[in-house]
Amino acid sequence: MAIIIERNQGLIRQSEEQFGLECPYCGVYSHMTPQSVPDFDKIQKDQPKHVGLVYQCDACNAPVFLRFAVKQYSDDAIELYRNFFELERPKERFSFSYLPKHTEALFREALSCYSNNNFNAFASMCRRAANSAFAVMGERGKLRAFDEVMVAQEIAEIPDDSFEPIKQVLFGAGEEDNLPLLNHAQAGMLLEVMKDMFYQCFVRRGKLTRAIKVRRFFVRDGNDSLRPSA
Ligand SMILES: [Zn+2]
Repeated sequence: MAIIIERNQGLIRQSEEQFGLECPYCGVYSHMTPQSVPDFDKIQKDQPKHVGLVYQCDACNAPVFLRFAVKQYSDDAIELYRNFFELERPKERFSFSYLPKHTEALFREALSCYSNNNFNAFASMCRRAANSAFAVMGERGKLRAFDEVMVAQEIAEIPDDSFEPIKQVLFGAGEEDNLPLLNHAQAGMLLEVMKDMFYQCFVRRGKLTRAIKVRRFFVRDGNDSLRPSA
């Protein structure tokens, strides 16, 4: 399916299929409508290698900026490659409030690196965030976290060789200089493993103790008697 900017008709997608994306503002996977398309005469004259388009999110109306590489220029049409670069990526979310303060600060920066496609900066920040969490969890903290990560590998059925770099980033003994280089797919795997590890070690415990505290509060508040329900 080609994406074409025509001299007289503007932007044309040669497909019936609707164009959708996860919106970086509202987080909804939404249909995107072209909002601002480059001026045909201007780019035909300068012939830049890349052009920027602004789409509007149908869910929240926010502008979403995309950059496309140009495939070819002809007199009445400019064809773009289908792949595009999202200038603002959706933010990764997490229940940060359950993490220890120091770990929260480091993990927020890790997720920001991931959202900006800086996967090795992301890996370095994951190492720091994990170490700070292990320190808070006490003597057996690292071992406990390791067990949680092994369970995650088993549940997700990740083969050992693909999982090795993830383990090295989180539990390797060497200096940060020795971290393996991660590609996009490996960084994505590390992201999900980190979220799961922190969930198991902090969020689950925090949510459960908070929920039980709330239940106890209401019981203490005068409802601690056996009453027939209405
Ligand atoms: Zn939106």
